[in-house]
Amino acid sequence: MTDEHFAYDAVIIGGGAAGLNAALTLGRARRSVLIVDAGQQRNAPARAIHNYLGHEGIAPHDFLSLAEREVSRFGVRKVSGSVVSAKRETGTHFILALDSGDVVRARRLLLATGLVDELPDVPGIAERWAREVLHCPYCHGWEVREQPIGVLATGPAGVEQALLWSQWSDRVTLFAHTGPELDAHARARLAARSVQVVEGEVSALDVVGDRLVGALLADGRRVDLTHLVVAPRFTARVTGLSELGLAVTDWEMFGQVAGGYVAADPQGATAVAGVFAAGNVTSVTETVIGSAAGGLRAAAGLNLDLIREDTQRAMTA
Ligand SMILES: Cc1cc2nc3c(=O)[nH]c(=O)nc-3n(C[C@H](O)[C@H](O)[C@H](O)COP(=O)(O)OP(=O)(O)OC[C@H]3O[C@@H](n4cnc5c(N)ncnc54)[C@H](O)[C@@H]3O)c2cc1C
Repeated sequence: MTDEHFAYDAVIIGGGAAGLNAALTLGRARRSVLIVDAGQQRNAPARAIHNYLGHEGIAPHDFLSLAEREVSRFGVRKVSGSVVSAKRETGTHFILALDSGDVVRARRLLLATGLVDELPDVPGIAERWAREVLHCPYCHGWEVREQPIGVLATGPAGVEQALLWSQWSDRVTLFAHTGPELDAHARARLAARSVQVVEGEVSALDVVGDRLVGALLADGRRVDLTHLVVAPRFTARVTGLSELGLAVTDWEMFGQVAGGYVAADPQGATAVAGVFAAGNVTSVTETVIGSAAGGLRAAAGLNLDLIREDTQRAMTA
């Protein structure tokens, strides 16, 4: 890998839907492309991908295998591992260090590193994440329809989440937990959608065998449920990339900072020249199909940027 002078047209950091679709677009645009991927796609613990037209219900692992096979037909190279540092070498050219010790050069960078879901600190939640502890009704709502669903309020979003999930089940309970005090208007809205409210903090999950059956409150009460909805904090994954100078912007939901993202324009250009971005790292609410589409757009923006540079160089020569 270490030819000192060779620079890929594009190095894509992250091989989820965004990075792979970007690679497909750039490979088909006859660019030399390297994907470096640490293999921690956000939805890896989930059983299936939903709401992806043409692939409804496919397992995340099967989706990635299929996508990687398609991408490899266009000469894209992929290595498993992490980019541990990335910095500008000259102009818009970059030099990257991988955890393997390899060093690679790139004319442009495309960040498709996704985000990290930081879960509420209640015992049992992390272990059951993506199985019975959920966040997104468009990902899991149909599969758990009409079941007793708890919503754990950890901020103002709790009320809105409970109202949202009541579209999929008429047995939704909002646990006030550490969320703000509910005013009369919030209570009336919840009542209008038959959402029950349980005051007090949830201290643990009640699991029988390997199945979630309830939530336990700090004062000893217990409430039946099969699934618990939480609001993770969504943190853009930029570990090791600080030398690029990318800013992470706060993401607010219902007046509360609930995560961070790297801002990019519709063609994926970030505020840092030569660095493009797509997928969850740029938008915390993006789904698989949306991330793939963002990858395509960012790849097209990156390709155009290279064409402009090549044209200028040819004219100068
Ligand atoms: C539990 C769960 C279930 C979901 N279910 C659905 C669903 O059913 N349908 C749907 O549309 N969406 C679903 N989503 C959302 C979906 O996971 C995301 O929209 C999608 O994964 C975003 O794709 P991405 O390419 O931006 O990031 P990711 O898929 O997260 O991929 C990012 C990749 O970058 C790698 N990476 C990060 N930093 C580095 C680095 N420094 N060096 C090398 N590699 C790096 C990571 O290891 C990872 O492999 C779900 C999310 C969760 C949490």
